[in-house]
Amino acid sequence: MIGAMNKAIFLDRDGTLNYDDGYTHKPSDLKIYDGVIEGLKELQDLGYLLIIITNQSGINRGFYDENQMNEFHETLLSELGVKIEKIYFCPHKPDENCDCRKPKPKLLQKALQEFHLTPEECYFAGDKDSDIQCGLNAGTKTFLITHSKGGTFQDLVKLIKS
Ligand SMILES: [Mg+2]
Ligand SMILES: [Zn+2]
Repeated sequence: MIGAMNKAIFLDRDGTLNYDDGYTHKPSDLKIYDGVIEGLKELQDLGYLLIIITNQSGINRGFYDENQMNEFHETLLSELGVKIEKIYFCPHKPDENCDCRKPKPKLLQKALQEFHLTPEECYFAGDKDSDIQCGLNAGTKTFLITHSKGGTFQDLVKLIKS
């Protein structure tokens, strides 16, 4: 039912869901952090849509192409085993000054619109300041993922339940 769920957790990818070895793109290099899958399941059970927003400048740097990224995403989604509504990505390098690279909020605003979401009901969860800024720029709540005490997906679940 469209409109039944109006809140989402926006997720950064590298360093948030999977380990980031620098321009990670090979399915065989995919390692998901402990606790991520369980945390995402709980967030979903709380009625949040899950949407990934990721900077992938490795594409325009020529390190990999969009097809390779898509293959990585297929593996990621199958290993996560939770429903990810959509993956938004920016392929540009910082010096291209595009309008979609985080912390710019364009992709996040697009997602808010496409899924009829209320920004104030949503969180941006990521490991970098650019993720937090991106969320703030679009009016969502934010949560810094550190994978240590206070900054895990379980901690986000606790915060939401509190
Ligand atoms: Mg990251
Ligand atoms: Zn871009």
